[in-house]
Amino acid sequence: MTKIIDGKKISQRLKDNLRIEIDEIKNTFKRVPGLAVVQVGDVTASSVYVKAKTKAAKEVGIIVFDHHLDASTTQSDLLHLINKLNKNEDVNGILVQLPLPKNINEQIILDSIHPNKDADGFHPLNVGKLSISKSNNENLLIPCTPLGCLIMLQNEGIVLSGKNAVIIGRSNIVGKPMAQLLIKESCTVTIAHSKTSNIENICKSADILVVAIGRPEVVKSNWVKDGAIIIDVGINRINDVENNKTKLVGDVMFDEVKNKVSAITPVPGGVGPMTIACLLKNTKTAFLNQNKI
Ligand code: NAP
Repeated sequence: MTKIIDGKKISQRLKDNLRIEIDEIKNTFKRVPGLAVVQVGDVTASSVYVKAKTKAAKEVGIIVFDHHLDASTTQSDLLHLINKLNKNEDVNGILVQLPLPKNINEQIILDSIHPNKDADGFHPLNVGKLSISKSNNENLLIPCTPLGCLIMLQNEGIVLSGKNAVIIGRSNIVGKPMAQLLIKESCTVTIAHSKTSNIENICKSADILVVAIGRPEVVKSNWVKDGAIIIDVGINRINDVENNKTKLVGDVMFDEVKNKVSAITPVPGGVGPMTIACLLKNTKTAFLNQNKI
């Protein structure tokens, strides 16, 4: 029987535990972790994500400092705000919702966030720490989506050591950090991308296949081996001709692939909720690191 990995349930458990831990922090230190959420402009998808992240943060007891800036904000205005947030002791984590307007250089902004407050784990120093650390230890600030994928695998009791893992996608926010995490879990890792030859056969060698392409239903059942474990990171909105509406699908052809594999994440309800829960986990980690706890 194929296991459908329930990201909503696992993320809820993670958030329940975080709420308990943050309550303990509050009782002991008379303070709670603070997260600054910065959005520039009004891209609809960004507003949806920011709303979901803010709601989840408040639910676990994190204080949210909301900074919703006008689309005309300049790079220097934004750098000025981040500088202020870097110095504000009540702010333990800073999240800048991407994408930013075209007049702002995203990398310059991400680099300006103090590495200790880097709730998304995108700062070069944290990327470096993830790369050179020997284990996926609790003090690291790790990009939220791959961290969520790892936690899901661990939660399902899947033995990772010695497994062949294939990751499709080599982005800085998903593919590359996912590879770092799985290498440290002693998987043998292959990264595939748009220029990979013979990608279907490479995917067929995977015990664990993590798919982060950003194109709907690319991975078909003839790409996967019997009994593999599939983590589908993709979120794609497509037309649902039957209902004359739109719907969300992953990068994997779920209905076809699910009959062949031992476990698979659905879209929606898989990786998405885990990403948000891991942002909260990183904010707590940042608080503990900053207070040397
Ligand atoms: P990205 O930066 O666009 O990277 C996509 C990667 O897929 C690239 O490495 C690209 O190869 C590769 N690729 C594109 N077409 C391919 C094909 N036909 N065959 C093989 N590889 C192909 O995207 P991303 O930011 O990593 O995000 C990937 C997906 O995950 C998107 O759908 C995004 O919305 C979703 N996502 C979800 C969450 C969540 O919380 N669930 C979080 C983040 C992202 P090249 O490098 O050669 O171009």
